[in-house]
Amino acid sequence: MSEKTLFQKIHDGEIPSDMVYKDEHCFVIKDINPRAPVHLLVIPVKPIISLAHLEDDDHAVMGHMMLLLRKLAVEHGLGEHFKTQINTGERGGQEVFHLHIHLMGTPVN
Ligand code: 5GP
Repeated sequence: MSEKTLFQKIHDGEIPSDMVYKDEHCFVIKDINPRAPVHLLVIPVKPIISLAHLEDDDHAVMGHMMLLLRKLAVEHGLGEHFKTQINTGERGGQEVFHLHIHLMGTPVN
């Protein structure tokens, strides 16, 4: 069995994190090195390496995560104003090779 990714270890509680959401398909943690007042990482439970490694049957989990973004934004005070980022591959700035969506923004008040 291949070694767990950093985010799998976080999901399984082997590495502590500030987890703000979890369901059977994905989980959400606060970025350890936030680049905005709100900086969350939305991560599939399945250890998909990157956008470049998606398989055809990953459309459900990807759609699920995309739809979750707006709810997280509202819950964290961002409303309809936020930035998302998905880094893909080393030259795309990816450092953790378990797909994740950055959700960043500044809450009003
Ligand atoms: P990437 O560059 O791969 O798109 O983003 C990886 C992100 O994971 C970075 O923003 C980095 O701060 C965050 N990160 C790395 N290690 C940890 C960790 O152990 N815990 C948390 N919560 N975030 C991490």
